Amino acid sequence: MMEHIPIAGPWITQKEIEYVTDAVTNAWYLNANSYNERFENAFAKYIGTRYAISLPSCTSAIHLSLLSLGIGPGDEVIVPDITWIASAAPITYVGAIPVFADVDEKTWCLSKQSFLASINKKTKAVIPVDLYGNVPNMDEICEIARKHGIVVIEDAAEAIGSQYKGRKAGSFGDAGVFSFHGSKTLTTGEGGMLVTDNSEVYKRCLFLRDHGREPGDKMFFNKEVAFKYKMSSMQAALGLAQTERIEELVALKRQIYSWYRKNLASIEDISLNYESPDTLNTYWMVTLMLNSELGIDKNQFIQMMSMNNIDCRPFFNPLSSLPAYGNMEQAHRAKLRNKISYKVSSYGINLPSGLNMNEEKVKYVCKVLKDVLMKIQPRY
Ligand SMILES: *Cc1c(COP(=O)(O)O)cnc(C)c1O
Repeated sequence: MMEHIPIAGPWITQKEIEYVTDAVTNAWYLNANSYNERFENAFAKYIGTRYAISLPSCTSAIHLSLLSLGIGPGDEVIVPDITWIASAAPITYVGAIPVFADVDEKTWCLSKQSFLASINKKTKAVIPVDLYGNVPNMDEICEIARKHGIVVIEDAAEAIGSQYKGRKAGSFGDAGVFSFHGSKTLTTGEGGMLVTDNSEVYKRCLFLRDHGREPGDKMFFNKEVAFKYKMSSMQAALGLAQTERIEELVALKRQIYSWYRKNLASIEDISLNYESPDTLNTYWMVTLMLNSELGIDKNQFIQMMSMNNIDCRPFFNPLSSLPAYGNMEQAHRAKLRNKISYKVSSYGINLPSGLNMNEEKVKYVCKVLKDVLMKIQPRY
C-alpha cells in the first residue's frame, strides 16, 4: 500500500528555512518589525491593494474588518450558508446577526438571488466567500451591495492567487481577508492578512489590533479598550518566503487539479470544481461532487478511502445545520430555504490536495476512488 496521503499540507523549501532562521536570529530590537513590513508590502503588491495588515489569523482579520467598517449590535450580516464557521463567527463577536444565504449550485459560492432576497433594512454587510479557491460573480455582488449601501468583506482565505476578470481574489470588497493556516495554499503555520484600499479602514485596524494605541503615539497611552492581534516576525518571515514563491505554489495547485481531472474523466456521475470563463480557480481543495441520484453515502465513501490510507474530508456542513447556531431564528429559516447548500453539502467530498501531491499519488487516489465507487455502487 502507498504511504498515508493527507488531505492538505504546505510546500516548504530551503528559502523558508533561511528566512525563518534569519528572523529568529536577527528580527529583534530595531529590526523587530522588518519581516512584517516586507511581508505586508509584498503581499499588498501581489494582491493589488494599497494596504495589507498581518494578523494572527483570518478569523481576527474578519473581526477587525467588521469593527473598522462600523458593524455592531443589531446589524445583519449576510454570509453564505456553506463555508467554514470562521467566516461567520466574528459576526457574533461584534454583536451582529448572521443571515445565512444559499449558494450557487455550480460555483458553490454566494447565490446572487439568495443574497438579494436576504437584504432588509438591518443589512449592513455581506461576506462573500471564495469557496475552495473559486470566486463568485463579484461584479453582481458588489453592484447589489453598492445599491443597497452594504459593505463587502471578501473572505479569500481559500483563494490566494485566484482571479475574477483578471483581478486577484481578495481585492474586490471594502476589505479582503486571507488565512495562512497550515492547510492553506500559502502558510505561516497560523496567520492571516487583511487587505484594503481604504485608508480609514487601514488606520482603524492598526489602532484596534494594538490595544487601542495610535501607531507611533505616546508610550502606553491607550485611547480605547481594543484587541491584541499581531503576527510574530518568525511567521512573517515564513509568509514572505512563501509570497516570493506564490506563483509556483498556485501553479502546483492547478496542476494537481488537472491530474485529477484527467484521471477521473472516464467516470460518469461525478463532477469536480467549476471554473467559469471569468475566473481563475486555484483549487484549494479539489472537490468531488457525487451525482445525488447514485444514493452514495459520503461518510461511508470517506471511511472506505481512509481504510486505504487516503485522507478525504466532507464538504462543509451548512452553518444553519450546526449546533452552534441551533436555537437561532435565522438558522431555522435558512434550513427551510437553502436547498442548494443542503444538497452540495450532502454529496461533496474534498480529495487530497496538499502541496506534497504528485502525479503518481493522484493516480493512486483515483484508482482507489474508482474501486470504492464500484464496491458501494454496483453500477460501476
Ligand atoms: C481557513 C478559513 C478561515 C479561517 O482562517 P483562520 O486563519 O484559521 O482564522 C476563514 N474562512 C475560510 C473560508 C477558511 O477556509
